[in-house]
Amino acid sequence: MPKISVIVSCYNEEKAIPLFYEEIEKNIKDFENTEFEYIFVDDGSNDNTLNVIKNLKSKDNKVKYVSFSKNFGKEAAIYAGLEHSTGDYVTLMDADLQDPPYLLKDMYNTIINEGYDAVGTRRVTRKGEPIIRSFCARIFYKFINKISKIEMVDGARDYVLMTRQVVNAILSLKEYNRYTKGLFSFVGFKVKWLEFENVQRVAGETKWSFWKLVKYALEGITAFSTTPLIFSSFLGIFFCLAAFLMILVIIVRTICFGDPTSGWPSLVCIIFLVSGIQLFSLGIIGQYLSKTYLEVKRRPIYIVKEENMD
Ligand code: UDP
Ligand code: MG
Repeated sequence: MPKISVIVSCYNEEKAIPLFYEEIEKNIKDFENTEFEYIFVDDGSNDNTLNVIKNLKSKDNKVKYVSFSKNFGKEAAIYAGLEHSTGDYVTLMDADLQDPPYLLKDMYNTIINEGYDAVGTRRVTRKGEPIIRSFCARIFYKFINKISKIEMVDGARDYVLMTRQVVNAILSLKEYNRYTKGLFSFVGFKVKWLEFENVQRVAGETKWSFWKLVKYALEGITAFSTTPLIFSSFLGIFFCLAAFLMILVIIVRTICFGDPTSGWPSLVCIIFLVSGIQLFSLGIIGQYLSKTYLEVKRRPIYIVKEENMD
């Protein structure tokens, strides 16, 4: 009998989890001859999340959980879930029902009947989201697809169903800075995308502030593109050429017209501009260096405080 693992990353989701559980239970009734396991990953919640999960576990044997020693972030939770999963097929879902469980049946059929290795989902609308957030997200996807070799699908969710083979491929990428959407594109395989309309979270509130999203976007860029480094090199070359031209102009002008000492304001402007650009380029290099620094430390991606996988 094929087994499907449902991985749910949870950070302070005490209100959402019971609703999620109720909904997923309704939806798996459509599956015949299929076994399920739910792996709840408690990402260091400081509300009652773990107790809510334990409560479910006492009633339902399908429920398993891993609880972190502190908040390690959603990417770490996904990684832990994948490592602990035992299913032939694995899916990743948010606890807030923004990844509609009703799609699961379609996703499963697509893999079984159409020979895909994975099925991803993308929201075609961003209804209910702040306008500025949607706008920045759109710009981000345009930008990262220009500068990166792998393709990031606009509106793609982490909600995917994949075969064991794809899961193992993702697990073989051991990097510390994990940008799951990128890793998923990186491993390749035959992927079909299903579309759905954005839905609001059922309970609780979003854990992603605007600033957190900006940092997450930067993470995606440094993890999957080195174009910014090339850009800063070109910027350097461009300014060297410009300086060279200016030197020529000044030499010729001094020979032809003498050297009246003036131009202090323009000099200050140039110093400001050039040092700004130097700092900017240093910043870009610093981003990559800091990621490399974290990578070479080989710190664990997550630390488990408590788990029950029986
Ligand atoms: N999440 C997590 N660790 C975190 C932040 C979020 O495991 O540090 C989980 C969260 O519980 C939810 C999912 O990731 O199940 C998506 O988070 P959220 O709904 O807050 O993000 P949004 O949908 O607003 O982008
Ligand atoms: Mg959400």
